Amino acid sequence: MTLHFAVIGDPIGHSRSPAMMMRACAALGVRAQYEAYAVAPHALEHAVRGLHALGFAGYNVTIPHKVAVCAFVDALDHSAQQAGAVNTVVVRDGRTIGYNTDGIGYVRSLLEEIGPHAFGRDVLILGAGGAARGISYAVKDRLRPKSIAIANRTRTRAEGLARALDCATVVSWDEVAHVLPSYGLIINTTSIGMEPHEEPCALDRLRAGSIISDIVYRPTQWLAHAQSRGGLVHGGVGMLVHQGAEALEMWLRAHGMPYAAPIAVMREAVQA
Ligand code: NAP
Repeated sequence: MTLHFAVIGDPIGHSRSPAMMMRACAALGVRAQYEAYAVAPHALEHAVRGLHALGFAGYNVTIPHKVAVCAFVDALDHSAQQAGAVNTVVVRDGRTIGYNTDGIGYVRSLLEEIGPHAFGRDVLILGAGGAARGISYAVKDRLRPKSIAIANRTRTRAEGLARALDCATVVSWDEVAHVLPSYGLIINTTSIGMEPHEEPCALDRLRAGSIISDIVYRPTQWLAHAQSRGGLVHGGVGMLVHQGAEALEMWLRAHGMPYAAPIAVMREAVQA
């Protein structure tokens, strides 16, 4: 039997997920097809019902559908309820369940690359969008942080996320560079690094030994600066790999295959 998987988004042409998942399935000896489909927002419900009707075993969901798709699945896992967004749908016993693996993927990748130094830090999260939501809950639940603070360009969004987390404070966006020495793990979840020369904040006051993390997939100038100032740096490729690994492991478990995803192979496929 061949298992069918997909990723839906708009645009989707740039996605590394098909290469990553096909390489992973080949390495595990699982017969599978994983295709990327461009789905316009107005067609989302039809696309989701179509994937289900065609017998897809699961699919990933990316920008701009992560929030809207919540309305079209049969149930939401706790991870998706917390994040308010779905990036993975698992079909189990004929029902579609929405999950969010971004947060756990982020933490898995941080622990793989930085190790136990990541536990117990004062954490500053830059950004309060979709990715920040999943990451902040996962950090709170799994990294035993001493404290969590959120800074976002639009302050009301930072306040909303801090309230939802029920343990976080808010730092003004303009103050971030100034307060850096108070934090041992600084996570940029904004899209700022997508622009080659843009950085979320100056790093003059960065403490050597602080962990600086940026979830943008490509290496950013900000991370290079952090490294040159003695920071421990963590880029976004690992999060992409580990959120995919979580999704693949859930899909395969639902089909009686409790395999661990081949992380090294998936990372190689993403970076090829
Ligand atoms: P989103 O929901 O649109 O949120 C974007 C965030 O970036 C908001 O906090 C926004 O602030 C902030 N922002 C954007 N431009 C800014 C600017 N010029 N100055 C200051 N703040 C700015 O997007 P998302 O889904 O959270 O994704 C964010 C980034 O993470 C994207 O680059 C995405 O590719 C990346 N990502 C990576 C992974 C991975 O696996 N590595 C997974 C998910 C996402 P406002 O609220 O003020 O607009």
